[in-house]
Amino acid sequence: MREILKKINEYNQIILYRHVNPDLDAFGSQFGLYWTLKSLFKEKNIVLEGNMDSDLLRYYPSFDKGTIHNERSLAIVLDTANKERIDGHIECCDEIIKIDHHVVVDSYGNINRENETASSCSEIITLLFKQENITIPMNAANALYLGIVGDSNRFLYSSTSTSTFEAASYLLASGIDINALYQSLYMKTKKDLEVVKYIYNHYQSKGKIAWFYLSDNDLKELHITREQGSQFVNTLANYEEFCVWMAVTENKENSCFRVSIRSRNTDIREIASRFHGGGHAFASGATLYSLDELEELVRQLEVKVNG
Ligand code: AMP
Repeated sequence: MREILKKINEYNQIILYRHVNPDLDAFGSQFGLYWTLKSLFKEKNIVLEGNMDSDLLRYYPSFDKGTIHNERSLAIVLDTANKERIDGHIECCDEIIKIDHHVVVDSYGNINRENETASSCSEIITLLFKQENITIPMNAANALYLGIVGDSNRFLYSSTSTSTFEAASYLLASGIDINALYQSLYMKTKKDLEVVKYIYNHYQSKGKIAWFYLSDNDLKELHITREQGSQFVNTLANYEEFCVWMAVTENKENSCFRVSIRSRNTDIREIASRFHGGGHAFASGATLYSLDELEELVRQLEVKVNG
């Protein structure tokens, strides 16, 4: 943290980036750092970058993204494995600090804090603050806790470690109300029930691979966005017969299909990277440019699972 704080001290303008298709960890680490830095450096221009029309934003209090001024800037990029996945234009920045927990494929920062074993980027950020005994404001602590919970699936995934609990404990000590957080995160609606019903009725499988497909039309009929459709991927988790499960959703606007791939203990990241994706060993994303590619993806996963 010392090196990062030293660098932050050298700049008046700090721009915080995270990956496209933001999840709770991307937002958690971005907002967690944003609100904490704002409380520490009141005179600095701290700006949030990236598209802000995700429905996940309902979990956070309102915020002001800020405005980028024409001056020397430091970029801090959170939770983003490779430069292409950064949401926003980073060319305006003079130096980059990368903080991430994905498998390292591109160390694009001038400073790179990469920890592949961390459950989440929010865990890394929290422990960086803890190291320096930095007080985390409540808004930031809530966001970081949601980031850890989101990426570890509430401390369920094997990426959960003593460090994860250490970070959670530091956040709890800052006074957050985890019951309130869980209630807002896990409360479901009848609409969710309809989606789950659709998935149970229409899922497909081949050998140990299971998936569901939601076309643009299905998404419209279910009244959900493509991103929301992907978030149902774990509806197919924890079935003994399936080692890998996927959500395939049509992105009509970009003429492609987004695939969220999850696995119990087969490393699927490399296969995801062959299909314009990547991520983690047991949780990766991929993109198909035609539904015909799905058969090949399933075939490669089957070979891997049975190998
Ligand atoms: P998703 O299924 O989109 O939730 O992605 C699962 C995990 O893989 C998340 O941590 C994503 O950040 C990561 N991921 C998804 N797509 C890519 C990609 N193209 N390159 C690197 N990481 C990715």
